[in-house]
Amino acid sequence: MRRTRNAKIVATLGPASSSKDTVRQLFLAGVDVFRLNFSHGSADDHRARFATLRELEQETGRPIGILADLQGPKLRVGTFANGPVMLIEGQPFRLDLDATPGNAERAGMPHPEIFAALVPGAELLLDDGRLRLVVETCGPEFAQTRVLVGGKLSERKGVNVPGVVLPLTALTAKDRRDLALALELGADWIALSFVQRPEDVLEARELIGNRAAIVSKLEKPSAIERLDEIVALSDAVMVARGDLGVELPAERVPAIQKRIVRTCRRLGKPVIVATQMLESMVDSPVPTRAEASDVATAIYDGADAVMLSAESASGKHPIEAVEMMNRIIEEVESDPLYRQLIDASHTSARPGGDVAEAVCCAMRRAVGLLQAAAIVCYTSSGHTSLRAARERPEAPVLSLTPNIDTARRLALVWGIHSVHIHDVDDVRQMTTIACEIARREGFAEVGQTIVAIAGMPFGTPGTTNLMRIATV
Ligand code: PGA
Ligand code: MN
Repeated sequence: MRRTRNAKIVATLGPASSSKDTVRQLFLAGVDVFRLNFSHGSADDHRARFATLRELEQETGRPIGILADLQGPKLRVGTFANGPVMLIEGQPFRLDLDATPGNAERAGMPHPEIFAALVPGAELLLDDGRLRLVVETCGPEFAQTRVLVGGKLSERKGVNVPGVVLPLTALTAKDRRDLALALELGADWIALSFVQRPEDVLEARELIGNRAAIVSKLEKPSAIERLDEIVALSDAVMVARGDLGVELPAERVPAIQKRIVRTCRRLGKPVIVATQMLESMVDSPVPTRAEASDVATAIYDGADAVMLSAESASGKHPIEAVEMMNRIIEEVESDPLYRQLIDASHTSARPGGDVAEAVCCAMRRAVGLLQAAAIVCYTSSGHTSLRAARERPEAPVLSLTPNIDTARRLALVWGIHSVHIHDVDDVRQMTTIACEIARREGFAEVGQTIVAIAGMPFGTPGTTNLMRIATV
């Protein structure tokens, strides 16, 4: 089973996609990494989803990435007694610490730290900024507000307070519990929400160690100010446009998206473009032209992955949304202009680079000159394959690894098709296996050239130092 595109698809599981059958269909339609959103669902829900995904992996023989997305210090309203409420412009609305389900006059908001930081005149943005409230009076346990922009409000919707600095830790008590569960269940990636400072990533790394890789979600203006440092400390990054576009004016998001993608490509870190990519497909079986164009733009920019949130978690057409994304990616990648744009936006290694960089540069050139059918990376930590993907080479990357965790993590990365194999002892054996698997997986036919890269001694992370050109 082989995908014929480079960019990857991340899809969020939710009520619209919990059955094993739907999850299988999502995978077959093109999902490479499944995102479990720990803002929603119980421990049992997550446990069941992990079990389903690992069964599917067994069934299909393909490594599947699981991304556990921690809620982070995201502020949310509580529940409502009788479903969503309508907030009317000019009407009062009260927020308080009371856990009683809310109504059209009030709702709970279980965050004492916000009430402590609020002042009259501060604005609260609800549900990705769709609704807007202004604080009139407030105390340590409540805020009496007036509705500036009304609309429908359903339970557990997000609250942003862009103008007020909130003294929040990067990992809340809930995040720590969720993290323990995600690690116990074997998550491949842990996504950190609302990263503000490089220290936030370090703090998480301290807890996670090398049990999972870290995705920093960039959705706070303060993170953008220290972009290079945060990207360098993370294993991957998400352009979390939902909250980013609430914390900052929407018109600033596109330029920041481009800057994040470029920074990640320069530093060789996988980057996911997320949120509202095919938003109208929550209700409609087809996207808007603007949405199709948005997905395409991320692909032309060389993003590693594009993500579906509500479209696959709670929308009416989860499978169609994945199929649509898959088709858009394939269409873009078959456009001759795509290769030109990817090459033009590639930052080549500069003098002062290391051996791995030199090997990958040589690989990229060799693939172009020889019109090689495939690149084969032999990797244990995933480092060699990541370096290869950073080159955005013209041939597909077949990543062979004895480490299943590495295979699963690399499911997120541009162009990489992982195969789980046994340890190899020497270059001869590696070359034989590389040729065999390239043929078996449909990457190369007899007589075609492959370019293999690896690190000697085998199994030592970060030692990419070898290139071998072979004929299948
Ligand atoms: P969320 O993150 O869906 O967890 O809020 C993504 C975003 O903010 O874009
Ligand atoms: Mn967010």
